[in-house]
Amino acid sequence: MLYDVIVIGGGPAGISASIYAVSRGLKTLVLEKDAVGGIIRNVSTVTHYSGILENESGTTFADRLKSQALNSGVEIRIEDVTSLSLENKSKQVITNQNVYEAKAVVLANGTSPRHLNIPGEEAFQGNCVHYNLSNEGKPYEGKDVYVVGGSDGALKEALFLTKIASKVTLIHFEDQLGAISEFVEKAKVNPKLSLCLHSRLTQIHGTDHVTRLDITDVHTNEVQSITVDGCGIYLFAGSTPNTSLYEAVTLEDGFIVTNDSMETNLPGVFAAGDIRKKVVRQIATAVSDGAVAGIRAATYVKALS
Ligand SMILES: Cc1cc2nc3c(=O)[nH]c(=O)nc-3n(C[C@H](O)[C@H](O)[C@H](O)COP(=O)(O)OP(=O)(O)OC[C@H]3O[C@@H](n4cnc5c(N)ncnc54)[C@H](O)[C@@H]3O)c2cc1C
Repeated sequence: MLYDVIVIGGGPAGISASIYAVSRGLKTLVLEKDAVGGIIRNVSTVTHYSGILENESGTTFADRLKSQALNSGVEIRIEDVTSLSLENKSKQVITNQNVYEAKAVVLANGTSPRHLNIPGEEAFQGNCVHYNLSNEGKPYEGKDVYVVGGSDGALKEALFLTKIASKVTLIHFEDQLGAISEFVEKAKVNPKLSLCLHSRLTQIHGTDHVTRLDITDVHTNEVQSITVDGCGIYLFAGSTPNTSLYEAVTLEDGFIVTNDSMETNLPGVFAAGDIRKKVVRQIATAVSDGAVAGIRAATYVKALS
């Protein structure tokens, strides 16, 4: 199957790239392995991006991204990209279901949450241990919840979880929270949120549900063992770029290097969004990258004919 442009990843960056490419008359396909929306689909509330609805949830935002792309004429397929050949003029993209050819490719498949790799984490994954709020905290109504991380996203989700849980404890390895003042000020006055700073979650104990947590003080190495009864644990401990498939693409610290036109080192191969080497990772910068990548990919394809 031949397309002008194939976009890998249906997050804000990929959807933006596809909308700009299709608007220039190009046959455009988005390949998304999971659900359109990317990380933001599983976020409790979307904040700061211009033009969002009041209290907009990640799901409604993601659904609108999807509708806009489909209404623009973009084709979306739920398939996992498993290998690529990007060096030749005609690019080959292989998924778990099909083989595609494209004149240009936009790499917009983002990042994955970093795991702590501590004892008990894997055993409880999806059942007590979570990396996003796709369950909206519902299993932990009236229970204790522990959130690991000090970023804006971690604190925002911890604040949201205080509406559901009986108590939320935020565990962060630094002495201070690194989050924006808007969230820090809300945290200070929230009686259901307590901070456990300069500490790391180091072990999760239990058989069918979590019974005990080990939390280690990074200054003293003292381990505090807390008895819990089926608590929820949400981990927001950073992310790693999904670039393992891109052997021929120039990377720095695992992220894709581009110029201002979102061009990679390979002709006809563009990158956009969180997967790119850059300073600010937000929806605004993802859709901005996507717009540039979609427009420049279209210019590249038109110059071929
Ligand atoms: C907890 C949290 C809260 C946040 N809240 C906000 C906020 O309120 N406002 C804001 O502006 N930003 C927020 N962000 C940041 C924002 O979510 C990201 O910057 C944005 O989602 C990046 O978009 P992207 O399209 O580059 O990547 P992603 O959103 O990561 O999308 C990448 C997509 O690629 C898909 N994919 C991966 N591998 C493959 C493959 N092999 N084949 C096919 N598809 C693949 C994935 O399934 C995913 O859908 C938040 C981040 C976090 C972690």
